[in-house]
Amino acid sequence: MTIATPTVRFSAQFSRWRSRLFGLLGVMLLSSGCGDVPSTSQAVISDHGDLTINYVPSEIEEYQWIQESLEATEFFDDLANELNTEFAFPEDIEVFFAECGEANAFYDPNSVEITMCYELIEQYMKIFEDEIETQEDYDNEVIDAALFTFFHELGHALVDQYELPITGKEEDAVDDFATVLLIDVYEDEAAFLSGLWQFEGDAIEEQDHLDDLPFWGEHSLSSQRFYNTACLIYGSDPDEYEFLIEEDYLPSDRAERCPEEYEQKSRAWFTLIEPYLQGE
Ligand SMILES: [Zn+2]
Repeated sequence: MTIATPTVRFSAQFSRWRSRLFGLLGVMLLSSGCGDVPSTSQAVISDHGDLTINYVPSEIEEYQWIQESLEATEFFDDLANELNTEFAFPEDIEVFFAECGEANAFYDPNSVEITMCYELIEQYMKIFEDEIETQEDYDNEVIDAALFTFFHELGHALVDQYELPITGKEEDAVDDFATVLLIDVYEDEAAFLSGLWQFEGDAIEEQDHLDDLPFWGEHSLSSQRFYNTACLIYGSDPDEYEFLIEEDYLPSDRAERCPEEYEQKSRAWFTLIEPYLQGE
């Protein structure tokens, strides 16, 4: 699978999501003259914080390249600015790209910090290393590999900061958040497919440890995260992503209800975060 250039474009994307979900309802309510049309005016909390991006230097050459690529593109700085415009945050959420000693990423509710480990980005890039030929390819791979994980961790931060009522596994819910945001708001196919292939890579590794899988874990198994993500992507546009069925990534038994599943998840996440979006 070829991974394309990141296509994230900013501004007014949340409004588009809003109109897709509420547009028809809004027109109906207006024309019948009753009820409240979901407004674009004011968040339910005051905006007391910002997302800030920090790059922690590393002694390791590979991580220096990752850091320099991330810094040079200013991609996450621009993304943070955009999110700060869209969301009212009760306090600052600091994001650290850093060497951690493990391939991981996490949100710490005590310090209100997201940490994105260079080790994890490096690990994900290895899945795609055959496709890296130029510096531009390299930069794009770094960003795409990091972006799905970033939105997953931001999902944890929003659940914590807004005390969002999540039922079911929070880990699954924030995978859904990352996927629907990249589909509906940023329309960044390269990034949500990167997320999908990351889960596929993890799922293949899982096959070597079938007797020792952490069924007790907070995360669903990587194979399940792969199928759940594939289902949302397919459900968002069955014609465009028919290859997921044709090439046996997604069984048709599951695929049948994926359009509904995608609509449900997209609407649920929008409903949860809409009160915290700031007006235009
Ligand atoms: Zn998580």
